Amino acid sequence: NSPTAELQARDAAHHMHPFTTNADLASKGARVITRAEGCWLTDSDGHRILDAMAGLWCVNVGYGRKELADAAARQMQELPYYNTFFQTTHVPALNLAAKLAELAPGDLNHVFFACSGSEANDTNLRLVRTYWQEKGQPERQVIISRWNGYHGSSVGSGSLGGMKGMHAQGGMPIPGIHHIDQPHWWAEGGDMTPEDFGLARAQELEKAILEIGQDKVAAFIAEPIQGAGGVIVPPETYWPEIQRIVDKYGILLIADEVICGFGRTGKWFGSQTLDIRPDIMTIAKGLSSGYQPIGGSIVSDEIAKVIDATEFNHGYTYSGHPVACAVALENLRILDEEGIVTRVRTETAPYLKEKFESLTDHPLVGEAKIVGMMGSLALTPNKETRAPFQAEAGTVGYITRERCFANNLIMRHVGDRMIISPPLVISRDEIDTLIDRARLSLDEAHAQIEK
Ligand code: PLP
Repeated sequence: NSPTAELQARDAAHHMHPFTTNADLASKGARVITRAEGCWLTDSDGHRILDAMAGLWCVNVGYGRKELADAAARQMQELPYYNTFFQTTHVPALNLAAKLAELAPGDLNHVFFACSGSEANDTNLRLVRTYWQEKGQPERQVIISRWNGYHGSSVGSGSLGGMKGMHAQGGMPIPGIHHIDQPHWWAEGGDMTPEDFGLARAQELEKAILEIGQDKVAAFIAEPIQGAGGVIVPPETYWPEIQRIVDKYGILLIADEVICGFGRTGKWFGSQTLDIRPDIMTIAKGLSSGYQPIGGSIVSDEIAKVIDATEFNHGYTYSGHPVACAVALENLRILDEEGIVTRVRTETAPYLKEKFESLTDHPLVGEAKIVGMMGSLALTPNKETRAPFQAEAGTVGYITRERCFANNLIMRHVGDRMIISPPLVISRDEIDTLIDRARLSLDEAHAQIEK
């Protein structure tokens, strides 16, 4: 047995993987990733793989940044752990909170830490309901979210999300969550123009508020651009109308910035790119570039004032973990001082957009949508009608993803959409390689399904 085969066998015997069937793993074996540098992974057979997903949309500064390892080692030696419960604090947590307040738009000046995006959205769920309770409006408890949105895997955040496959397992959604339709023009827009469709989908929020009762709705939560749902860039009419509606009815707006934050869209936050004014932002992933598990909620002055006046009975052993905070601070310093966010906006993203959109001349590709450093290709047998494939949804996407994998390129598929979200530090040469390998993989997938 090769060393890789042995590792795969041990993995299959004992390691339960998220979002994967055992049959799939057992037939192919998991790819064992051993090292990474910049945008490149190395596997146990020595292949170099271009990671066009930045792990799970998170390694914004790229792999192998020694400064981040050093920041962790320094903090582990000085103060490896202390908590932030009750009346204690420590320097990494207070400095990170202050730095986030400086970066966040508007009056989002207060941070509640968690260890992941899921935990942060669980915090938000309790936070907005507690806020209205403390304001003397305890009946305002319903949270509106969207089908095919993704907000995490815990029972609370999974309920906020609109993934029907997740809801089917484990008793979700919990009560008090109402889902409206997503602004996914390609799949659901029919004969409407994208602009009309965007408006219509936003107005579903108003309809839901009126049906449920304005005095019963606590908040609306959404990703500025849906990520895990398939990088669905909403029509331009969508967000201005949503903002009008939440303002009109006094509903709190939670922008889930777990993917869109920290430069992914070309500004620090997706809310700035899409001109949204949230009351709360969920953060994780790019906050530490994935080097440490950390997330949080950044909330407005008004929300903090109300919540801080009561005892909010909520928190995690690792809320504001000092090592995670020290690494996040160093990561933000790198993003800031190396001008990475600005470079994304002015150089890298425009170049990537031009190359990525050139893939629409491929026979399988119906549209290419990209904002900043997150993009998707819609695969279709008919570019005019935007029809799905006759085969089970996702089959062609799956085949394409497998061809990418064989060509040492990591792209993700969501149904028949192919996704990229590379490290923000990707170079022009690496973008060229990404596009060449994607095109080759599309050609191979095309040949395979024509057979
Ligand atoms: N929110 C969004 C928008 C996400 O994309 C994710 C993860 O992909 C989450 C929340 C959950 O974050 P985590 O996996 O860190 O719990």
